[in-house]
Amino acid sequence: MNIQLLPSSFDADGRATSAQRLTCFLIDERVTVDAGSIGIALTEAQRRAVRDVIVTHPHMDHIASLPIYVDDLFAEVEEPIRIHATREVIDLLKRDVFNDNVYPRFDVLRNERGPVMQYVPFDIGKEFRIAHLTVTAAPVNHIVPTVGLLVSDGKTIVAFSSDTAETEEFWTMINRAPRIDALFIEASFPDSMRQLAEASKHLTPAMLNAELGKLNHNGLDILAVHLKPAYRETVAKELTALGIDNLSVMEPGRVYEW
Ligand SMILES: [Zn+2]
Ligand SMILES: [Zn+2]
Repeated sequence: MNIQLLPSSFDADGRATSAQRLTCFLIDERVTVDAGSIGIALTEAQRRAVRDVIVTHPHMDHIASLPIYVDDLFAEVEEPIRIHATREVIDLLKRDVFNDNVYPRFDVLRNERGPVMQYVPFDIGKEFRIAHLTVTAAPVNHIVPTVGLLVSDGKTIVAFSSDTAETEEFWTMINRAPRIDALFIEASFPDSMRQLAEASKHLTPAMLNAELGKLNHNGLDILAVHLKPAYRETVAKELTALGIDNLSVMEPGRVYEW
């Protein structure tokens, strides 16, 4: 399985920088988890291949350029772009984003070949298929309905925490898996900003460390993501200071393989 955290910040020469302003993981060039930078960071080949998007929650940094992505592809898609999410999240996307005020209701629009965007609901705790992947979702503790995900291609198993503060069901789900090869976990704010992290339901490095105490698997790669750009260096230092084997900060734009 290969996974890339799409870049969302570019320097004057167009090169990706390490700042992560938006969240969108590209899996095997085919499926994305969240869609923050989907409309600005895919190559042409990837744009033609990605038709399945899992939305963990409707916060702007996770869907910012999704409407633009669908719009760009409106005339050319031969099958609808499928938005996989819980019913709660789909309702929020319909109400607050694809509502004809913020952007068109693409789910009711068609090009010459058929529908251009389709909502595909999934249930918490029930395995479902997307392309070659098997996916299971568990609720996490964030300010809106949000899910963490367990994703398997039959050989490799990875887990995405999405945005969360202290949480339980996500860890129960991944502890039930036979093995985890990689965990993508958020670390938004430095330890000095714990109050804000708690109010906005995110993790600091110390909170992340406590959460990892709930994990029963060993030997996996742990990739910290969602570091707020303004505090990236501090958070990265605090993560290193935890002294956890195989814990690193995920680099946007780099393709990781398991
Ligand atoms: Zn969020
Ligand atoms: Zn976020």
